[in-house]
Amino acid sequence: MTEMKKFKCSKCGEIIEIPYGIPKPESCPHCGAPGIYIHRIDEGGRGLGPGRGRRCGARMGRM
Ligand SMILES: [Zn+2]
Repeated sequence: MTEMKKFKCSKCGEIIEIPYGIPKPESCPHCGAPGIYIHRIDEGGRGLGPGRGRRCGARMGRM
């Protein structure tokens, strides 16, 4: 199984999947937009579980 990094082109909206170990493309393979339009949409392994594990109800306001 090859893990894939996911990027999204904000110009054409296409998802670009790239295997780990290969750098982000310099341009969108779908529409040719430059890399500034290409944004990572996965989070490199960390699950983004909304509201998971954070103590709810303990708002101390300490920053
Ligand atoms: Zn594109």
